[in-house]
Amino acid sequence: MAKYQDLYHRLLAHVNEPENEQACWVHRLQSRHDRYIKVNISINGKHTTAFAHVLMWEWFNGPRPEGHDIDHMCHNTRCVNPDHLQALTHKDNRSKNQWTTNCSMGYN
Ligand SMILES: [Zn+2]
Repeated sequence: MAKYQDLYHRLLAHVNEPENEQACWVHRLQSRHDRYIKVNISINGKHTTAFAHVLMWEWFNGPRPEGHDIDHMCHNTRCVNPDHLQALTHKDNRSKNQWTTNCSMGYN
C-alpha cells in the first residue's frame, strides 16, 4: 500500500470538504476530455495516468478485481467517496448504463 500513500493525500488535497459524512467527495480538478478525473502517477518509476475514483477504491479495498470497472453509485463522476464506489464487471456496468446510450423508442 505504500505506493499509494502519497497519492491518497494528493487526491484528498483536491477534494472539496464534504457537507456531511454521506455526501460526495467532489474532486476539484476537471478534465475537458473526460467526465472522470485522471491523475498523473508514477509506479516503480514509471509514469502513467489513472482514474482518481479507481485509485480511491483500491486504497480502501485493495487491487481492482480482473475484468471489473469501478462504478459510481451516486452517478457523480467527480466523486471519490469510497462509500459511493463499487466494483462491477464490464458486463454489469454496460447493462446498468444502457439507458444512457439506447433509446427505448429505437432512435439511436
Ligand atoms: Zn458520490
